[in-house]
Amino acid sequence: MARRVKAMAETVATLLELQEAVKKFVETRDWNRYHNPKDLAISIAIESAELLEIFQWKSEASLKNGANEILRNRVAEELADIIIYCANLANIVDLDLGIAVSRKLTVNEAKYPAEKVRDSRKWEDVIQKRG
Ligand SMILES: [Mg+2]
Repeated sequence: MARRVKAMAETVATLLELQEAVKKFVETRDWNRYHNPKDLAISIAIESAELLEIFQWKSEASLKNGANEILRNRVAEELADIIIYCANLANIVDLDLGIAVSRKLTVNEAKYPAEKVRDSRKWEDVIQKRG
């Protein structure tokens, strides 16, 4: 099992390949009949809450010196859950997740120019203008 997980992790390199792997995983279990955009969006929120739970009641100091291995593994699992549901939702609504992320990064680059947001005073100005 561990070897299989490792082999898959080494072969999944792009978001599109990840979407294909998730699609195959879902189809081979015939889970498409349960999956719809609403429930997948809810599942993303639930998995995001599980990620938050890892940090609940932890002090800033306990997280600053680098997360320990157990914490990092829990974060990795919850991030993976979130991304798997994102890939699943992208498949259901026929989106290429890599293109969507690239487009959004381009929008964010225009919205938050590095030369403006690096300076904290200019950053506050950008935030003020956003309202
Ligand atoms: Mg989870």
